[in-house]
Amino acid sequence: MAAGDPQRVWFPEMLARLRCEWDFAMLFPALIDLRDRLDAMLQQIRSERHIVSPVVRCPKCGTARRSAEPHVSVRALILTLGRFGIASQEDTKKIERDWAKYRVQNGLDLYGQASATLANGHSEQIESVVCAHVSSTPRQRH
Ligand SMILES: [Zn+2]
Repeated sequence: MAAGDPQRVWFPEMLARLRCEWDFAMLFPALIDLRDRLDAMLQQIRSERHIVSPVVRCPKCGTARRSAEPHVSVRALILTLGRFGIASQEDTKKIERDWAKYRVQNGLDLYGQASATLANGHSEQIESVVCAHVSSTPRQRH
């Protein structure tokens, strides 16, 4: 992966912090807090290195727009623990399951925020390349 890959999420500095700050005994509120800090770090790294998301074109109508900025989700953080050997595969699976339950029980989004605040700017789901109008209007003019 090239150093300036616009879709890159995990930079070495972030992994170092994750390795240093994550603890198996960590409760989810603390884990969400760690995610917030890693995400802020990601945005800072991207801004300092002038990394911008690529422009993508809708394959249907050709409308060009910038693809969504990558963000660190709680699940991505958990999977990264296993991927980089910070936690064992077993622990990673357990935390992933526990998180899925915790998330539903508390009505949280992928980033550990209350879903009610989702409309207030925290909408970075993975966007598809196709414009929203294509999927929302089956009988579009394309
Ligand atoms: Zn389109």
